[in-house]
Amino acid sequence: MTTVVKRVALVTGANKGIGRAIARGLAQQGFVVLLGSRDAGRGAAAARALQAAGDVRPIQLDVTDDHSVRTAAETVRRDLRRLDVLVNNAGTNAGHRKPSQESPGDLRQVYETNVFGVVRVTHAFLPLLREAPAGRIVKVTSKRGSIGEKGAWVGQPSMAYSSSKTALNAVTVHYARELADTPIKVNGAAPGHVATAFNNFRGSRTPEQGAAIAIRLAQLDDDGPTGGVFDDDGQLAW
Ligand code: NAP
Repeated sequence: MTTVVKRVALVTGANKGIGRAIARGLAQQGFVVLLGSRDAGRGAAAARALQAAGDVRPIQLDVTDDHSVRTAAETVRRDLRRLDVLVNNAGTNAGHRKPSQESPGDLRQVYETNVFGVVRVTHAFLPLLREAPAGRIVKVTSKRGSIGEKGAWVGQPSMAYSSSKTALNAVTVHYARELADTPIKVNGAAPGHVATAFNNFRGSRTPEQGAAIAIRLAQLDDDGPTGGVFDDDGQLAW
């Protein structure tokens, strides 16, 4: 077993879109990047495609599946014995229905990934992050989750999706408060409107532009913020 001296980052839902761009960016910064994908084949293909960026390794991880998440955490502990950065990026949407047309089941399905999945993965990897000299947790959220931010609710955002991100922002603050007396910083990253499969590639930003804020928050200095939600322009009034 070789001792890992490089910093290690795990990105969930990294086989495509913003997560893939975050994985590439962190690899370029010198991290060993664990590219999380619920489908092992898609993860392996994405990791292969990113080899030019640095050390990118696929890891099977379905954020809604206890067994998958537990196995991934055991694998990281056994093989790398280290985790410095966790990026909770995996997310799902709910289509475009009016709030009155969204059922509790619709909300539950989105929350399974966007909220409960984040909590499941965070709990599984927190022991390793606590052992890191400067652990960083980044939760990929959305301006759609913001209640106080001007212009965040342009159009008719899905209630299930928006409220899942509002809950995620609150979850972020709860972890940040609990971990305030540790080196770990926990922040939310809002990528903006990015052209990915998520919105049928209708976004105005590239995945690389969307990834930039998460990559920055993953590498905050020790005097950096915790418990905030940020986009490229600064802190959001979420
Ligand atoms: P995307 O291209 O559709 O990518 C979503 C990723 O999440 C895919 O890798 C998907 O895997 C993965 N995923 C979904 N459910 C999962 C699960 N149960 N376990 C593990 N992985 C799962 O969308 P994206 O735009 O890059 O979205 C990434 C994040 O950015 C999401 O949290 C989203 O809410 C957020 N965001 C996006 C935008 C935007 O404009 N695109 C704006 C604000 C926030 P599969 O390939 O297997 O489906």
